[in-house]
Amino acid sequence: MTRYPRRRFVTGLASTPLLLRQALGAQPAKKAQIAITYDLEMSRNYPTRKNIEWDYRKGDLDEATKKYSLEAARIAAKAGVKLHFFLVGRVLEQQDIAWLEEIHELGHPIGNHTYDHVYLLARTPTETQFRFTRSPWLVKGKTVPQILRENIRLTQIAMKQRAGIEQNGFRTPGGFNTGLTERPDIQAMLLELGFKWVSSVYPNHLAKRTEQGVSEEVFDSIVKAQADAQPFKYESGLIEVPMSPISDVNAFRSNLWTLDEFVKATSLSIKEVIQNQMTFDFLCHPSCLVIEDPQHVTLKTMIDLVKSNADKAAITPIDRIAETVK
Ligand SMILES: [Zn+2]
Repeated sequence: MTRYPRRRFVTGLASTPLLLRQALGAQPAKKAQIAITYDLEMSRNYPTRKNIEWDYRKGDLDEATKKYSLEAARIAAKAGVKLHFFLVGRVLEQQDIAWLEEIHELGHPIGNHTYDHVYLLARTPTETQFRFTRSPWLVKGKTVPQILRENIRLTQIAMKQRAGIEQNGFRTPGGFNTGLTERPDIQAMLLELGFKWVSSVYPNHLAKRTEQGVSEEVFDSIVKAQADAQPFKYESGLIEVPMSPISDVNAFRSNLWTLDEFVKATSLSIKEVIQNQMTFDFLCHPSCLVIEDPQHVTLKTMIDLVKSNADKAAITPIDRIAETVK
């Protein structure tokens, strides 16, 4: 059989009724892929609004954040679900990392989120991180690419040496509307450091809340933005798995949403993604959610929603999603 007619035949199946496709022995329709990700870092304005010191000590996780991260990992493991964590490397300087080791032992993959939470699009050394603005001697004589490379490499080394964890993927601190599209140099650096995929895109959408609450226009905008948060491959070969709106810090910190509104936006987005067999990459920060969603309502809602659509959707770590990107 020549390849062309076969390809045409398979493509033609999409418009064939389901029962007929099954009779022909075709593969079942592709499932929606839902990743649930937790960035392990401290967030400014938490646990109290006035706290911005974390900008300088992103990896100095407090007890409540560590406990909450482990709780999420246990809830997911009990439901047979794998989450995907991203770690700021400086966490590994802390005395107690038993909570992180348990997350690892439960089978949840842990990716690299740089050592100090550095800004990959920085143009000057001190712009890479608040810590280096206050203490510029830490990066004296280094170029931006040197600082970034070292910050990513140190995290990989610390994860391995201190905890025996192999890094699983890379997420940029902060998300960018066009990801790394304009920065082939950074794509090349990540490939050279051994990464096959990155999570750096965060698409634009509406998020403002008024006294009347979050409007339907805002919810619609977030649901529509899911189409802009689909995985793709850069020309360099690096795969992008975008973060899907709306993130916890954008909703709660920047726009003062309620938990009900956040759960609603997340549920509407996942339903949209399931209906269209797309990908959803939920992004949250335990340092924020431990205050805003202490009972893990969002996580439990997502698990229930996907389980009740088990024929059409699955929860999966990001590396599995990246494997399917052509
Ligand atoms: Zn981050």
